[in-house]
Amino acid sequence: MEKKRLGAIIQGYQVKRKTTFRVNTLKVQIQEVIEILEQNNIEYDTVEWSKEAFILKNVSENEVRNLELYQEGKIYLQNLSSMLPPIVLQPKPEKDILDMAAAPGGKTTQIAAITNNKANITACEMNKIRAERLKYNLEKQGAKAYVMVQDARKIDDFFSFDQILLDAPCSGSGTLSLSNYNEQDEKIAKNFTQKLIQKSIETQTALLKKAINLLKKGEEMVYSTCSILASENEEVIRKILKENTAKNKIEIEPITFEGIEKLPLLPTKIKGTICVLPNEQYEGFFLAKIRKI
Ligand code: SAM
Repeated sequence: MEKKRLGAIIQGYQVKRKTTFRVNTLKVQIQEVIEILEQNNIEYDTVEWSKEAFILKNVSENEVRNLELYQEGKIYLQNLSSMLPPIVLQPKPEKDILDMAAAPGGKTTQIAAITNNKANITACEMNKIRAERLKYNLEKQGAKAYVMVQDARKIDDFFSFDQILLDAPCSGSGTLSLSNYNEQDEKIAKNFTQKLIQKSIETQTALLKKAINLLKKGEEMVYSTCSILASENEEVIRKILKENTAKNKIEIEPITFEGIEKLPLLPTKIKGTICVLPNEQYEGFFLAKIRKI
């Protein structure tokens, strides 16, 4: 890795990450949230690429959890990077959408909000305890989705979907913060071994193959991870691009959306994919849009 890139990554890990949230438009209008923030003297910044996203300046996550807004499911605490996959997917009402690795449901509920609960969402999660959390969050946010508790690698090929999000399990290399180092970071750091990375790569590859099987021809899916390692991102996709078979031929659809130029991006090894640099506001994150042809 070139020196400049490595330096920027290390710097990104050292800053304290800001509290950010997404307005759940299934339950509340953005203007109402703004008024409540102002009544509570909560300072905030808005985000160029999403009117639902807010960056808080003078409150902690715990303080936000005490707000009625949070308790009533009107806002969802979510890192800005984690809001990108549904925006890139552009979910549409009436479509059959699969969220393949869904818990705790940040992106499932976002897809439900974007489509105003009018898409047929299937949210798959293998871990039973995490699936319960997913169901709780769906209920709290008023988001509609059918929860499938199973290993997504084993979903029957009989099914097919118009749009798929594969927010794959990963090493979490993009989410580590050395500044406000907490229990979650400690857990990630302890488990951050070559073995974990290798296991993640195997699962990511199998899940991506399954996603392509399940995607209807001509339609698009998003592959994302909260890792910035090429081995879990570009290299997983490259392997599958190389294996392109007549039945499962794919191509990369370049990612573009309004405001993308405002994101702190690292170069990637596949043109059209994006890798977000970890900093004060963003966790490290990778995204690719894939079309089945
Ligand atoms: N998309 C989620 C969100 O935005 O809230 C975060 C997903 S997290 C990165 C990955 C999830 O995939 C974990 O909850 C994990 O338990 C689940 N998972 C791992 N392997 C899986 C598999 N083979 N099938 C289904 N889910 C799986």
